[in-house]
Amino acid sequence: MNNNGSVVFFFFIGFLTIVSGAGIRNRENVDQQICPHCMREGHDTNADKCKFCGNKL
Ligand SMILES: [Zn+2]
Repeated sequence: MNNNGSVVFFFFIGFLTIVSGAGIRNRENVDQQICPHCMREGHDTNADKCKFCGNKL
């Protein structure tokens, strides 16, 4: 019975880690775009051109 309880506990911790990780990843995507050409980030959300290499985002 004890063993069973800790398995559920660790499963819950793992689930929380995945959910919070996904949340942070989504927030990054909303705040800034990553250039597919030079892979640099920090562009405005409404930018259509990369400010480092000038290619279309
Ligand atoms: Zn670029």
